[in-house]
Amino acid sequence: TGINFDHYDNIPIDISGNNVPEPITQFTSPPLDNLLVENIKLARFNKPTPIQKYSIPIVNQGRDLMACAQTGSGKTDAFLFPILSKAFSLGPSINNNNDNDNDANQYNKISKYRAKNIKPIILILAPTRELANQIFEEARKFSYRSWIRPCVVYGGTNIFTQMKNLENGSQLLVATPGRLNDLMERGKISLSNIKYLILDEADRMLDMGFELQIRQIVEHYDMPIATSRQTLMFSATFPSNIQNLAGDFLNDYIFLSVGKIGS
Ligand code: ADP
Ligand code: MG
Repeated sequence: TGINFDHYDNIPIDISGNNVPEPITQFTSPPLDNLLVENIKLARFNKPTPIQKYSIPIVNQGRDLMACAQTGSGKTDAFLFPILSKAFSLGPSINNNNDNDNDANQYNKISKYRAKNIKPIILILAPTRELANQIFEEARKFSYRSWIRPCVVYGGTNIFTQMKNLENGSQLLVATPGRLNDLMERGKISLSNIKYLILDEADRMLDMGFELQIRQIVEHYDMPIATSRQTLMFSATFPSNIQNLAGDFLNDYIFLSVGKIGS
């Protein structure tokens, strides 16, 4: 089952930056959290794709990353796995083997914790509703049995329904830039707790004219500065406007390119 990524094994890797960590070869912990490794097993993923082998230890060590790879290379999980793994350890665990505590009690505790924390700690920006939904579904699959509640917001649909859903709390928010700005202006989302910021398909977001919207979010006074958050950018191409954005948003970043990329 699943996709055969073996043909990716011989593709060229280009990597640069200070103190680049060694790639991993398996999804076994460490460096990944045990609960995440269980969820990866449930999804029947046998081994990491090339971009995942390199990105997992880089992100796990807290480094900023600019990654270029083509569609279908496993980019979404390349950032979701290490980010979720780190985020799992920030909250309460439901796997703590406490004999006096049944599952229902544990879930109750977690939902109370969620309600108090309505500011997301993970923000993922994506260009379209379809992409945002794909990332959201992947995040939901791999945050199974964790304290992380993913939410997704995008334009073209009822904003009040999205606001109601956000009121239940969200630690991981997937958003298109326009709708996120709208929700921020309405005071429904605060970025002050963001620890992890991911720009997926950055080149496509710029092609669609989202640069100003993106800058309004990333340079917002609520958003922690580059040295106080971890920032990852993913793109299929690396033209000068993406290089400029990387220079502005990332701090001491590692550049990773998998396969031949366009520019
Ligand atoms: P990209 O963002 O590079 O276009 P995706 O992250 O959407 O690629 O991955 C493409 C598909 O491959 C998804 O359905 C995803 O669930 C699956 N996938 C990702 N990583 C693995 C893996 N290590 N093993 C098996 N399937 C994987
Ligand atoms: Mg993708």
